[in-house]
Amino acid sequence: MHIILAGPRGFCAGVNMAIESLRSAIRRYGTPVYVYHEIVHNRWVVDHFRKQGVVLVDDLAEVPESANLLYSAHGVSPEVRRTAARRRLKVIDATCPLVTKVHKEAIRYAQQGYKIVLIGHAGHDEVLGTMGEASESIVLVQTIEDVDRLGFEQTDKLAYLTQTTLSVDDAGQIIDRLQQRFPQIVAPRKEDICYATTNRQEAVKILSLQSELVLVVGSRSSSNSRRLAESAIATGVSAHLIDGPDDIEPNWFSCVRTVVITAGASAPETIVQKCVVLLQGEFTATVESRTIRHENVQFTLPEPLPTTLL
Ligand code: SF4
Repeated sequence: MHIILAGPRGFCAGVNMAIESLRSAIRRYGTPVYVYHEIVHNRWVVDHFRKQGVVLVDDLAEVPESANLLYSAHGVSPEVRRTAARRRLKVIDATCPLVTKVHKEAIRYAQQGYKIVLIGHAGHDEVLGTMGEASESIVLVQTIEDVDRLGFEQTDKLAYLTQTTLSVDDAGQIIDRLQQRFPQIVAPRKEDICYATTNRQEAVKILSLQSELVLVVGSRSSSNSRRLAESAIATGVSAHLIDGPDDIEPNWFSCVRTVVITAGASAPETIVQKCVVLLQGEFTATVESRTIRHENVQFTLPEPLPTTLL
């Protein structure tokens, strides 16, 4: 068997920043440090920090007054910010700047009187945060059929935004339909689907054509990991989303000579390497790295943490 390790894969700049922020907060304040929702959508990362004394909460009522609270990479709504301020929580905002960009676009469009169509997945943390920024002005669409049901007119002032971790192809089809129905609709100045999502999908689409099977390392709760698996399947190969080596089943490989391994933006490289080691042991697999696009995006840690460029 031959393994192609897809590049880029794994941690993006936003996830790196969020994880390093939490590490830095633990060093600076000790535990417990509270995190609103999962710091990133990955079981290994979450378990690792839980063991260190980090407490993940879904409701700020669970956080004692004046405690240290970190917002995850996916961002929060203004309502969460107001509640945190009321409870005098010491907030470290590890929202990815590329999510904040979408929040700011929502605020700007709403202030300018636009109705905003947000393309995203209902219930995702990022979507809840973005919708909370301009709840009176935003409507969520998840499918082309949702676009067909929109009650706007071609004279309405409309703009669209997208969640950062969507399938580039699926979002493109929804945008096409929006533009057909509402030619006046305004697009974001710069693409909302982030560089990391775009690059990982591009790499898996190119490399999966040279394989019979794609393994995507990532948790089911991770939107961009699920979209990676879907991107591979769309090219005609089999693909499995796995949390780690324990999920790998030997019968997947009966007719497989080449397997591509990639990882979602929240999946640690250590877990990728454990999968590689397992396949090398089971199938004496050879390993090759293929990088389709190089990345050099970095974000600084949020205040009040020391300003470190990651
Ligand atoms: S996937 Fe994109 S938007 Fe999400 S944290 Fe990473 S860089 Fe930021």
